[in-house]
Amino acid sequence: MSAPRVRVAPSPTGDPHVGTAYMSLFNLGFARRHGGQFILRIEDTDRARFRADSEQQIYDTLRWLTLTWDEGPDIGGPFSPYRQSERLDTYRPFVDRLLADGHAYHCWCSPERLAEMRHQQQAKKLPTGYDRLCLGKSAEERKALGGATDTPVVRMLIPDDAPLTFTDVIRGEVSAPRPDDQVILKADGFPTYHLAVVVDDHLMGITHVVRGEEWISSTPKHILLYRWLDVPEPAWAHMPLLRNADKSKISKRKNPAARLTWFVEQGYLPEALLNFLALLGYGPQGESEVFTFDEFSASFDWSQVNTVGPVFDLQKLDWLNGHYIRALGADEFAQRLVEFAARADELGDDAAVLVSAAAPLVQERTRTLREALDMLHFLLVPADAFAIDETAAAKQLGDGAGPVLDAALAALEPLTGWAAPAIEEALRVALVDGLGLKPRNAFGPVRVAVTGSTVSPPLFESMELLGRETALTRLRDARAR
Ligand code: GLU
Repeated sequence: MSAPRVRVAPSPTGDPHVGTAYMSLFNLGFARRHGGQFILRIEDTDRARFRADSEQQIYDTLRWLTLTWDEGPDIGGPFSPYRQSERLDTYRPFVDRLLADGHAYHCWCSPERLAEMRHQQQAKKLPTGYDRLCLGKSAEERKALGGATDTPVVRMLIPDDAPLTFTDVIRGEVSAPRPDDQVILKADGFPTYHLAVVVDDHLMGITHVVRGEEWISSTPKHILLYRWLDVPEPAWAHMPLLRNADKSKISKRKNPAARLTWFVEQGYLPEALLNFLALLGYGPQGESEVFTFDEFSASFDWSQVNTVGPVFDLQKLDWLNGHYIRALGADEFAQRLVEFAARADELGDDAAVLVSAAAPLVQERTRTLREALDMLHFLLVPADAFAIDETAAAKQLGDGAGPVLDAALAALEPLTGWAAPAIEEALRVALVDGLGLKPRNAFGPVRVAVTGSTVSPPLFESMELLGRETALTRLRDARAR
């Protein structure tokens, strides 16, 4: 195969959708497999839904995932600009040509008239679609009929023999419904997605259009535009839509995990998320589920894409993420945790050193960086904000706790060094040997007193990191409750 050129073409309409990462991953996997190029194009022609900060978030989250592009608005490339709002002059001649050839026509119908038309069609149980009132009319002729605006849009004239089937790289022969006379140029002079995508994919030399299955119904329109403009059609590959457990489409309104930034905030590792996305609807059953992007791309094959909507199972992601966390070297894990804490803005002065030192205590017992940081909360919280969880207190700091805490304080106060083995030794002698308690009953109150919770990283190491003064103060405060 000659080197493919593929693209992802997100619209900057809000927080980047997880589908953008999914599409990027498959496009990039395919491009790398065959030594091709992956292009990022920003499709910002829908001005009503445009959000200014969205484009930067797309860059940031895709880079975080290491899904990097060879050409794009921020890095340029031979087909610049890669932002559609900067290409308006490019589209106009294509529209003029379609008008001149009779494949497109002006339409002056006002939104009110179109709504009324649809209403009537529905009342008569007719298929809804543009009724071509404007077709073949001049501006004056049309105006005389009423319900017209001054600035026309341009519509495609869909022929009776429009192509309604096409070959899809993933799905084989695909059928799509007959399209309406699609608007390709809006009254504001901006092209619609349908025109811009075809013109840009053509001019940018895109060989394979890899996108979500929701675009299947648009493909006949795009095929017509390729034919009318007399340019070669790309290959089509429509990926399955990601679905919630109830099979509904993943939407940002209903599912926080539809937002890519959510995964960053929750402390997932990019390599785990990539692996998770690659597993969605892809791969031979029964083989290892853990693989890197390089392994994925080295064996990339469209025939492995399963078109039955893959279910977004976050438990699987948690499992994978825990696996990747445990596989990191200790220093690397510490560094990621510090970076995460800094990003989450939970790093006070000196806390980076503390997080780094405490990282080994949590690496084996956490599924996400968020969880790891939460486990270290007792260590990072300022003295005046430390609070003991009430349920934990009810369990461990009841009447029986007084003698335990007294004995613990008496054993720890005279300690000269403050290292975990010495702390452990002193507490064992005082509580297990001295008071005859089972370790669980001996250390439970101490754990809750110093960490505020019944679950914590290993107790003696935690106390060492907390420091002598803080640990003793917390024990005394708990005793005084
Ligand atoms: N701008 C479209 C989107 O946001 C791109 C669809 C395509 O890849 O053709 O999904």
